[in-house]
Amino acid sequence: MKEFLVQNLTKHHTLRKIYKLIYDHGPLTKADLQALTNLKHTTLVRIIDELLTSQLIAESGFAKSGGGRPPVLYEIVQNRGYIIAIDISRTHTTIALLDLKLSIIEKYTFSMTRDHTPEVVIESIVNAINLFMQLQDISKDDLIGIGIGSVGPLDREKGIILDPDSFPSVGWKHVPIVNVLEKFFSVNVLLENGANTAAFAEYLHSTIKGSDILYCISGVGLRCGMIVNGHVLQTKTGVASAFGHMIVDIEGKECICGKKGCLLSYTSLDSMKTQIIEQISSGEKSIVSIDQELTFEHLINAAKAGDDIVKRVILNSAHYYGIGIANMINFMHPDQVLLNGPLIYEYQPYYEKIVTTAKKFMFHNDNVIFNKGLLKEDAVIIGAAALLFKSFF
Ligand SMILES: [Zn+2]
Repeated sequence: MKEFLVQNLTKHHTLRKIYKLIYDHGPLTKADLQALTNLKHTTLVRIIDELLTSQLIAESGFAKSGGGRPPVLYEIVQNRGYIIAIDISRTHTTIALLDLKLSIIEKYTFSMTRDHTPEVVIESIVNAINLFMQLQDISKDDLIGIGIGSVGPLDREKGIILDPDSFPSVGWKHVPIVNVLEKFFSVNVLLENGANTAAFAEYLHSTIKGSDILYCISGVGLRCGMIVNGHVLQTKTGVASAFGHMIVDIEGKECICGKKGCLLSYTSLDSMKTQIIEQISSGEKSIVSIDQELTFEHLINAAKAGDDIVKRVILNSAHYYGIGIANMINFMHPDQVLLNGPLIYEYQPYYEKIVTTAKKFMFHNDNVIFNKGLLKEDAVIIGAAALLFKSFF
């Protein structure tokens, strides 16, 4: 499989083209392929034979016949190769093994703590990949590549995670992750921002074909990705987090970047914690305590239990987030806005407040469809695997 993907001779060109058509639109019959390619019948028969012999495609039943013998359907062989996908965020790292149709076969997630330096994380990644291959009896030759969706900023060309903020551990500066993994596994490694890979996964999954998607993850920070005409919109350093530094109040709260009124200073987990502590300190009662380490789980539970302070802070955060989304919609004109993050899935009033605020501040673009990301926490890895596979064609 790896050989088939990397070979680049002209004679392989048509072979790969037919394979990709079956991959994208399969199962297909010979007649379908002929209609899509205009190839001579004999050429098409030869190519299909070659793909069948290499076990890259297989017969997968029969199409309905208009009379006479029903035509054979062809589909790609899903487990002819495997992809590793990695999601590196400020809260967790996930490593997964996927087949060629991007079904997740193995998955391992761990939380990022103060001890999770790049060295520790990379070692865990390598161990997980080796374990997956052992469990599934997969050789290095079956592994076609590794796709990484990470927090930025990144140097995609050199495959380096540059200097992302707010990691719990120190040491996340100029991490040459692509190089290290390429050496370990001798495969292509692709590095992209996680918000972009997630956006791409949702794009492939979307039932609204060809739509432009704005995809945002509100976690510890705020990350957004955008799909335009089926392509990931790439900024130079892949800083999907830059969205969080959009100014929403010129005289507003101070942000971690040193400026005032950035979106992040209202929406990040840290900013919500600060606001909650301020209000408790001013004498208001809350079921959360100033001394505890506040996680999303604490906030969600407190809000669901009706805690006034926590509810107010979360909805205030949603209000500013909605304004940020409206600004993005006003100049990017997406067809769909998809939102992901713990509060989005676990606390409905947060999601609703974002949508109503965004709609209020949108500039005549009322056809935008809002939704929660369908693939939830798997979006980043599925998209990373999809972009890796796509990079061969
Ligand atoms: Zn800022």
